[in-house]
Parts: sequence; C-alpha cells; structure tokens
Amino acid sequence: MNGKLYLCATPIGNLGDVSPRCLEVFNEVDIIAAEDTRRTLQLLNHFEISKPLTSYHEHNKREKGGYIISLLKNGKNAALVSDAGTPAISDPGEDLVKLCIENDIEVTSIPGAVAGINALILSGISTRRFAFEGFLSVNKRHRREHLMSMKNDTHTLIFYEAPHKLRNTLSDMEKVFGGDRKIALARELTKLHEEVRRCTIAEASAFYAENNPRGEYVLVVEGASGEVRETEENEWDGISVKEHVDKYIEEGMTPKDAIKKAAEDRDLPKREVYNEYHRSE
Ligand code: SAM
Repeated sequence: MNGKLYLCATPIGNLGDVSPRCLEVFNEVDIIAAEDTRRTLQLLNHFEISKPLTSYHEHNKREKGGYIISLLKNGKNAALVSDAGTPAISDPGEDLVKLCIENDIEVTSIPGAVAGINALILSGISTRRFAFEGFLSVNKRHRREHLMSMKNDTHTLIFYEAPHKLRNTLSDMEKVFGGDRKIALARELTKLHEEVRRCTIAEASAFYAENNPRGEYVLVVEGASGEVRETEENEWDGISVKEHVDKYIEEGMTPKDAIKKAAEDRDLPKREVYNEYHRSE
C-alpha cells in the first residue's frame, strides 16, 4: 500500500506557532523532505525530534521528486516542509503534490502560518477579495509586465519581496499603479521586531530611499478603483512601440527625439526602443 504525504506548515519566525499535530506527524513519518534541511533540523532539535531528512528544493526537485515518490510507493510516509510557512506557497511543493496525485498517493495538509495571509489581515486594506502574486521577477521588463497586467485589478494584491529588490519594486509600483495607492509593508512577522508600515506607495518609496530595507517583506497593495482605471491609463499602454514612436514623429519630432521620448514614457532603455522600432519597420 502507498504511503501518505503530509504538507506540514511550520512557523514563519516564532517557534511557538508550530502545531501539536505537526509535531505528531514529524514523530510518526519515516522521512521529512525539507526545502532547507539546516533550518528544519533546528526546528526538529528544538522539539527533540530525530528523523531522517532529505532536501527538496527548486534546484533538485526533479530527481528528488522521483525519489520521494518511490519511497511513498513503497509504503513510507513523508512530511514536506517549506523554508518557512506553508509548503506549496511560493516554493516547489506544488510539483510534489502534482506528482503524488498522478501516482495515486494520498496527500493531506497540517495547516499553519502563511506569511501572505498574516500580512493581509494586519494590513488594514480590504481582505474581502485578494490576489496572491508571490514573487515578482528580477528581470525589469518581466516585473513591469507583471505589474502592468494587474494595473486595473480591483483585488487587494499580495507580493513576496526580498530586501535587495524592494526599492526597484516600489519604484516600478509607483510608476505603474501611481503613488497614491495604499500599501502595507510587513516584515519580521511573528518575530520580536514585527513591523507593518502602512502608507501610500509614494511614501514607502520615499522612506526606503532614505532607509535600508531589512528582512523579508510581504507587500499588500490596495486594488485599483474604477476611478484609477479611468484616470491612470497611459495612452501608450495599448499601442506598440512602433505606433508610439510614429505618433511623436507625426507630431513633428525627429526620429531620434521620438525614440528618446517613447523610451522615457515606457521607462525602457533607448536602445531597446530603437531596436524594437527598427525590427518592426
Ligand atoms: N511558504 C511560505 C509561506 O507560507 O508564506 C513562503 C515561502 S517564500 C520562499 C518566502 C517569503 O515569504 C519571503 O521572501 C517573504 O516575502 C515571506 N515571509 C516569510 N516569512 C516572513 C516573515 N516572518 N515576515 C515577513 N515575510 C515573510
């Protein structure tokens, strides 16, 4: 008979948040697959649990997925643990869940903390309808495209963000969403120095221009209102780079100035607009 996979939520900072049922499962399973074995070992040591650990993360999920499935098919029970919080939320856990389903292996969950939900309920921004967006791309263009695609979304938006990317993300959000939208920046949740900064995107940008971002963040951003949709739509949002440049040429600019202006509007390097313009000629 196949074994069972337990998706075990672990604390996002405060060890007191681990559930008794989670500890019971750790004691009972044959193996624990962990995104960060060192971190999980600390958790196990704290609760004096000794159990075989195996790593399962973004860079080994293919081989390790097969290995864990083979154990489960041999009747072993396994727990899956994320770096922190709930497995399968912004980590490779979802792939293992799919593999289990394909292989008729039972999956169950031991619920607990999710950083995004904790930040949302502390944000003071509407919790009635929300969209979880996870991490934005490090690639500037993809990040912009992702934000553009949500510009008119009326749901409250939830993002995960690393400290070294925060300034760029806030700057892009200000350009795409406008500076007036409310944002809550939550860090060190459940820890001693838990902080939720509630302000506008422009205020957050100004604050972090002066202060170094520290720790991992969840950003909760107010959704678009009907009014924003009307007033903040850029006229170039719906036109190609070529149409955009041609518009300025028709208005009397030189091609060089038209490319420069279109690049400024779109916040793209001039070279990129130049190449795109000539590619589409
Ligand atoms: N599976 C996790 C969950 O349930 O939320 C998320 C894993 S994701 C790889 C890690 C991200 O979660 C961090 O970059 C940060 O955005 C967020 N996060 C985790 N712990 C946090 C905390 N204590 N305070 C604020 N954000 C946290």
